Amino acid sequence: MSFSKLKFGSTIGIIGGGQLGKMMAQSAQKMGFKVIVLDPDQECPCQYVAHEFINAAYDNQEALNQLGESSDVITYEFENISASQLQTLVSKYNVPQGYQAIQLLQDRLTEKQTLQAAQTQIAPFVQLSEPSDLNQAIENIGYPFIVKTRFGGYDGKGQVLVKDATYIDEAKSLVDKQECVAEQFLDLQKEVSLTVTIGNDNQITYFPLQENEHQHQILFKTIVPARTDIEKEQEAQNEVKKIIDHIHFVGTFTVEFFIDTHNHLYVNEIAPRPHNSGHYSIEACDYSQFDTHILAITGQKLPQSIELLKPAVMMNLLGRDLDLLEDQFADHPDWHVHIYGKNTRKSDRKMGHLTVLTDDVTRSEEILLNRFEGRYN
Ligand code: ADP
Ligand code: MG
Repeated sequence: MSFSKLKFGSTIGIIGGGQLGKMMAQSAQKMGFKVIVLDPDQECPCQYVAHEFINAAYDNQEALNQLGESSDVITYEFENISASQLQTLVSKYNVPQGYQAIQLLQDRLTEKQTLQAAQTQIAPFVQLSEPSDLNQAIENIGYPFIVKTRFGGYDGKGQVLVKDATYIDEAKSLVDKQECVAEQFLDLQKEVSLTVTIGNDNQITYFPLQENEHQHQILFKTIVPARTDIEKEQEAQNEVKKIIDHIHFVGTFTVEFFIDTHNHLYVNEIAPRPHNSGHYSIEACDYSQFDTHILAITGQKLPQSIELLKPAVMMNLLGRDLDLLEDQFADHPDWHVHIYGKNTRKSDRKMGHLTVLTDDVTRSEEILLNRFEGRYN
């Protein structure tokens, strides 16, 4: 697909003004674009680096139109915008990303059905429309399985791990409130992710394979390059190729994968936007995931490949980590510290991240892990 190439100085409208919007805006401004951001939070991080701020709800059609009228292109930083409102915007304004990816991927059920249709490897799953459907999960998948809400979950929110029959009541009450899916709980060896950008005329640019570790289901650290056998990167790229035959993507997105103890690769989920596990690219690569996103949506050519300038360890900084570490920032010029500028600090809220570039990942990881020790005490 081909779309318009914007002149430098054009205006980019971003729906959502969190840290992803902020880092997108910073890339855009580096390249000479103007930025307008729409967000319901009066104190959202992106507004401080934007030329204009529309303070309105994501479903405020009037405000969305105002954004459209003032922008040469519209993008978004997250997947929970209404697909039908996005469709309305697509019909009136320049939204090269379209609405299909959002529509398919904001619902875990249609996401899984699409991944199935694309013949990617995914964990067996069952649709749960009502509590009694859990019997189906017990029969078809067996314990342990994990129940996830179809809509709105992030950082492990809206999930119940059903290890055995004693967890069924908890799962039932979740399904009673919201439609869910159940999927087999895999015995994981590792989690990895692949960040990809699609540009004009379907140009594809891959970032290096990323290795991710979660704590309490929130991303804790990312290490690049991923420490897997050499074929895994190619396998992951092959899965992405199958996916993009079924979903129209423009810009940066990330596919999260599981590797189980039998060394099999499974697609977990897709984020149709820049992703936390790609943040290391700001310092460690010749183009960041935000740079390539802005190049893509403004219709410019992408770099053919992304060069990893140095191996990297990226650690998220939750509120609890800031409490633990902020006094040490001044003594660590080797930590590339990013603070998003959110006004309210909460212990499990992502407040920033830091990236260390290193020739000795094992050593750097060890030093950092010592610093982060005690975060859940
Ligand atoms: P979110 O939208 O919250 O990121 P995910 O489906 O990615 O939801 O789940 C969050 C984390 O929970 C995963 O990164 C993984 O660590 C764990 N997890 C989720 N599903 C499974 C599964 N089927 N098997 C094993 N671990 C899982
Ligand atoms: Mg995830």
